[in-house]
Amino acid sequence: MAFCNTGNLGPNLDGIWIDNKPTAASDGGVLAVLNPLDDSLYRNVAESTVDDVNRAVESAHKAFQTYKHTTTKEREKMLCKAADLMEQYIDELKDILIDEGGSAYRKASFEAEKAVSFVRASAGMVRQMTGKTLPSDYPDKISMTIRAPRGVVAVITPFNVPLIKAARLCANALATGSTVVLLPSEHTPIVSLRFAEILAEAGFPSGTVNVVPGNGYKIGDALTTHKLIKTVTFTGSTVVGKHIQKLCAEQNKHVTLELGGKNPLVIMADANMKDAVQGALRGIFMHQGQACIGSSRIYVEKTIYPKFVEMYVGIASKIGMGDLRDPETIIGPIISDRQRDRIKQHIEDAVSKGAELATGGVWTGNRCAPTVLLNVTKEMDVCQQETFGPVVSIYPVDSFDEALSCANDTEYGLSAAIYTANLNNAMAFAKGIESGMVHINSPSISDEAHVPFGGIGDSGFGREGTEADLETFTDLKWVTIQS
Ligand code: NAD
Repeated sequence: MAFCNTGNLGPNLDGIWIDNKPTAASDGGVLAVLNPLDDSLYRNVAESTVDDVNRAVESAHKAFQTYKHTTTKEREKMLCKAADLMEQYIDELKDILIDEGGSAYRKASFEAEKAVSFVRASAGMVRQMTGKTLPSDYPDKISMTIRAPRGVVAVITPFNVPLIKAARLCANALATGSTVVLLPSEHTPIVSLRFAEILAEAGFPSGTVNVVPGNGYKIGDALTTHKLIKTVTFTGSTVVGKHIQKLCAEQNKHVTLELGGKNPLVIMADANMKDAVQGALRGIFMHQGQACIGSSRIYVEKTIYPKFVEMYVGIASKIGMGDLRDPETIIGPIISDRQRDRIKQHIEDAVSKGAELATGGVWTGNRCAPTVLLNVTKEMDVCQQETFGPVVSIYPVDSFDEALSCANDTEYGLSAAIYTANLNNAMAFAKGIESGMVHINSPSISDEAHVPFGGIGDSGFGREGTEADLETFTDLKWVTIQS
């Protein structure tokens, strides 16, 4: 397997990626990346210092001076090549997602294929970097807008979908002529390093994408507040997102925040029961519940509640927890002690306050069995806080109005879903739900390259996607010509 360890770092160390080559940390520091299945060592990676971050930003700034002049044709060609190379190396990318991130094969395949499609779609963005001609109040004045790439952008990514986020945001920034410094999660830096290496092979010039593996809490502020960083796109927890937002506000810096969720799924009595059960299972248990758009709150109309719970729990208790490379496996390990502790605390807290454990709550090594809680009340942490594990609460509701009101009873607003055969209720839900995304008769988990992906409230602001990222990574300039 090829890693980013070419150069003089030796076979057991992946380097910081600056100027299209791996380099050691300025202080020689090393970060151990663990395989979450058993916390054994997966890879060692150079741990970036603030000096390394500065070096990466300066490299991206230098690259921007020439990269911004590349033609549409050149950028399009490199992005298409990058997508082709990702397809060529797709098994290797899946392997990293499995061993570094604890992804089951099905999730790793989904993520790798989605990432390829995002990079391919970004090639189409290149020719969408358009302005407008405008009317003018003044005679003989030509008025128009043009777009300019913004400059160096910081892309900060979470552990759960590291390739999807790196691929989409780096490729979309590169499509506009901007350059990137990528800070991946300390738990999953290797797949981003491999992705950067693929971009270099696709022809992206030295410095256009630099990757600084390390601990965000040590080097994140230096990246976010660096004067040469013009935009920050952050995906991660709400608490870190709010901190970054403050830093960016102090510098008048553009920021987009893709944060956590406590996404609701509503199931009305007229829904197709089989589809609803399947959607509700897929909606939470993919990647063992470590998905920002996972539906961890299910509201079911009372008349079908007992039947739904019986069917749901029956299947949930048998979900595959076998070999990660077996396509039947859904549940893999939870990434870290911190995340495991939170999941355990949420389950224990709920049970101690009277919730019924319909199934789950059992750990096998670092894996938590699918856990279904009933009789959950607002005093329980699991009710309103993001658990980020395979834990779901099911609530009975009397009516559509109650379902909508409960669904909106959260500070988050990322994704939502409803299963119903009633078009009026479906549309009333789509309009009434306070979230950035809503799906009718399909799970809350969904993403496509060109859609506006993102949330409101504590789930962040700004959107991702080819169209939205044109706004994020470019500045619109008004130009007039007086003849
Ligand atoms: P996290 O907030 O712990 O870390 C995210 C990233 O921020 C990491 O790269 C980390 O190194 C970096 N970081 C930490 N401190 C920083 C600082 N001071 N400055 C700059 N960067 C810093 O989140 P996580 O545990 O990796 O990911 C899980 C969270 O991400 C969940 O809340 C989940 O809902 C959210 N998420 C959101 C989306 C979305 O699109 N809305 C997608 C995936 C994950």
